[in-house]
Formats: sequence, C-alpha cells, structure tokens
Amino acid sequence: MPQIHQVAIVTGGSRGIGRAISAHLAAQGAAICVNYSAQPEPAEALVTELHAGGTSAIAVHADVSDPAQAHALIDRAEAELGPLTILVNNAGISAPATLETYDEAALERMRRVNVNGVINTTRATMAGMKARGYGRIVNIASNAAIGTALPGTTFYAATKAEVLILTKRFALELGRSGITVNAVCPGWIVTDMTRGSTTEGEFSARVAGMRERTMVGRVGAPEDIAAAVAFLASPEAGFTTAQVLTVDGGRKDYIGHG
Ligand code: NAP
Repeated sequence: MPQIHQVAIVTGGSRGIGRAISAHLAAQGAAICVNYSAQPEPAEALVTELHAGGTSAIAVHADVSDPAQAHALIDRAEAELGPLTILVNNAGISAPATLETYDEAALERMRRVNVNGVINTTRATMAGMKARGYGRIVNIASNAAIGTALPGTTFYAATKAEVLILTKRFALELGRSGITVNAVCPGWIVTDMTRGSTTEGEFSARVAGMRERTMVGRVGAPEDIAAAVAFLASPEAGFTTAQVLTVDGGRKDYIGHG
C-alpha cells in the first residue's frame, strides 16, 4: 500500500479519550489538529508534548455544535497541516437526566454537541476527502447507545444512538468515494467526564462498581479506545465500514435484548 501523509483532526482532542487518540495517532506518524472548545490549557500542553516528540500539531478552538466554527476548524487544520485523511468525532458532553429530571435546554445543548457536532465536522470535511478519494471517519458513540443500564444516561444514550445510525448512513453515502465511516462505543472509561464532581472516595466506589459490571474485571483507560480508533483510521481498514466496535470490557448489564 502506498504511504499516505496522515493528517488527523480529533474533536475534543485535548482531554480524556480524545487526548489518548491524538497521542496514539501522533505516535503512528500523523500530524494532529487538537480541537477544544472551553479550555485552551490542556490543548496547548498536549501540542507542546507532541512537538517535543517530533509531531506536527496545532491546537484549534471551535465549538463543533456551530456549523461555521466547524468549517473554520477544518479549513485551518488543512491550511496548516495539509489535506485531512482522518476525522475523529470525539467531542461530546453528558447531561445526566431521567424522565423526572428532564431539562429541555440542557438536553438540547447536549444534542447539538453530540449529534450536530458529528454532522457539522463531517460535512465540512467530506468535500476534500471525496476529491482525493480517501478518508477515514471514526465517530465516538457510547455503549449507552446499545442499551447499558446506568441510571441517568437515558437522553445521553439517545444522542449516541443517533450517532450510530448517522455512522451507517454516512458510510453508505461516502463509501464510493473511498471514505469509511465507523463508530467506536466506549464502555466506562476513566476521564473527567466519568469523574464529574465526585470526591476521591465516591470515585473509588464508582470504579469498584463499574469494574464488577465487566467480564474482564476492570474499567477502561482512554488508551483502550485509542487503540480501536487507530485500527479503524488506518489505511488497512479500507474494507471495514458502517461498523460499530464496542470497547467496554464485556459489559454484563445490557437491558432488553441489546
Ligand atoms: P471529557 O474528558 O469530558 O473530554 C471532552 C472533550 O471534548 C474535551 O477535550 C472538551 O474540550 C471537548 N469538547 C466538549 N464540548 C465540545 C464542543 N462543543 N466542541 C469541541 N470540543 C468539545 O470526555 P471523555 O470522557 O474523554 O469523552 C470523549 C467522548 O467519548 C465523548 O463523546 C463521550 O460522550 C464519549 N464517551 C465517553 C465515555 C467515558 O466513560 N468517559 C464512555 C462512552 C462514550 P473543552 O473542555 O475545551 O471544551
């Protein structure tokens, strides 16, 4: 297979799972655009680290829920790093709620980031990828989308289920142009998102509880997800598209018939 100059954009690439994906793809030789929306410091720190390792990298602010900012993000990444070969739609937020605590404004905001964000960046990226006849798009959904039973994740799960169907439909629309679109569904991964505002004691108890729900007897690390993304983003994965890869340690608490 001919060598391709890999250029990746990782939305929400500054912290947690996105940070691990950025670092993993960089270690494999890709230039990296680290996107963030609220906190420049972790993004700048990661870029400094990547530069030290010899990677071309930039940090770019953009709220992916806004189509104009998503377009500006892709334009800047391509202008500074070169044509994009990999788009990882990782940016996401979680607004816990049940039927009782449903808050329309909070949930609409979550939908705009988790769902519209994927649409906006994919639309901004696809023309270039189509013209070059090559692209790898990986969407980070969640095992909540396929029916885990964690309380408070009902509406979050619905946004991620939408990401799964968009993944398959985008794969259908873009496949003939040499672009694959796949999703990774992480299980419970230790990041700021799962840590939330818990105390150390509460967090340890939460980790112990989640460990019991997996077949492998541990919770996940961001690197577990990065490894799966790296496969789907590789040139060798060109015959793999419209797929959902669940990376959750074998969760045992799926509701219904999964
Ligand atoms: P995290 O630690 O909270 O990090 C979220 C990242 O997304 C940060 O870099 C954040 O940057 C960025 N971000 C948030 N809103 C954004 C927006 N509107 N535009 C651009 N960037 C934005 O989250 P994580 O746990 O790593 O989760 C990453 C992805 O995996 C999410 O899609 C999440 O739903 C999914 N996931 C996580 C788990 C888990 O157990 N952790 C499980 C299943 C799925 P700023 O702070 O600068 O905005």
